[in-house]
Amino acid sequence: MPTLRQKICLLTGLLAGQKTYSGPWFIAVDVTRRCNLHCLGCISHSPLLTDPGAPKDTGPADISNDLFGSVCKQMADLGPGEIILIGEGEPLLHPNIVAMVRQAKTYGHSTRMVTNGTLLNGAVAKELVEAGLDRITISFWATTPEQAEKVYLRTGAETFASQLAGLDNLAEAKRRSGKKHPLVSLHQPLSKYSVDGAEQLVDLAREHGAQRVTFSPLRTKGGRLTDHAPDYEQMKSLNALRARLQSDAMGEGIDEFLLRLEIGEQVWLRMPCYVGWHHLRVDLAGRVFSCKMCRTPIGDLTMSSLREIWNGEPLQKFRRQTRTRRRLAAFRQDCECEHCCHAVTNHRMQQVLRWIDPRSRF
Ligand code: SF4
Ligand code: SF4
Repeated sequence: MPTLRQKICLLTGLLAGQKTYSGPWFIAVDVTRRCNLHCLGCISHSPLLTDPGAPKDTGPADISNDLFGSVCKQMADLGPGEIILIGEGEPLLHPNIVAMVRQAKTYGHSTRMVTNGTLLNGAVAKELVEAGLDRITISFWATTPEQAEKVYLRTGAETFASQLAGLDNLAEAKRRSGKKHPLVSLHQPLSKYSVDGAEQLVDLAREHGAQRVTFSPLRTKGGRLTDHAPDYEQMKSLNALRARLQSDAMGEGIDEFLLRLEIGEQVWLRMPCYVGWHHLRVDLAGRVFSCKMCRTPIGDLTMSSLREIWNGEPLQKFRRQTRTRRRLAAFRQDCECEHCCHAVTNHRMQQVLRWIDPRSRF
């Protein structure tokens, strides 16, 4: 969570124009592009979305220790934030993943990992708890062995069983160490196979020691996967689940999902984008993007420092281009804004900023 000082610095910059006076709050670091699964809707590893004839990516498969260390150090120079260990693959396949958590913590950053959870054996879970990982999001495409057969292509129910074992290993490691962290979120990309069983994710979270659940709709890339996607009415049925949960903390993730559904795909009609003011993504080669969904890098850590990139001209231009709804509508050709995963944050920021910054209304 950003501190009050970070929020004030961001607001000052935002009102002044295009620079920001604190460092990024979050840096999502691509850790690896290797994965042990082939989830139904994975852009990088689903056999339904990848083209076997496409040219192979010849870049690095894993992030180098030097690049990761440099990101941690340079981010600390701008002020500590949250490092998110993520990527187009499974972070736990990186041979130095535990050391990376430890290193980020040494620099004062909060750490979060997004994983499929299948590789969380007892030893890895213990090491991650001891290293001080703050938050972990485990993606559950299925909540029953039957669903797993449909969404974990090639590995099926076996994957679901490994995920449950991983969750239990983590809960046990936390219990033994007496630590509350990492806080555990279960995330479910909703397919038509899982949408009617969303409540099962809540049950699963409660039974296996997770604190939160979140959902996202299945992305249908260029019309592919439409046969596997839930329809709008099915997704709206989460309203009933929300009512049953009432004030339960598990309900927050459902509120966010329903809000994302209500915002719709044309996010540029609803609000500007503020991601350029608080978030960066670094890929395996050191290229820096303001947002995962945008194709054009705004910098390269092999040529410039993070400080130079953070308030450099390309990012200032990005901030200008996304500063109003009208400009975002014109700019979105470079990004897949219809699949925006920052829409709820952008919406919440706009609800506050529209009272103090007229540009947030246009
Ligand atoms: S675990 Fe993640 S990276 Fe791996 S196939 Fe599934 S969605 Fe893709
Ligand atoms: S997808 Fe578009 S609207 Fe969303 S954060 Fe990225 S640039 Fe902004």
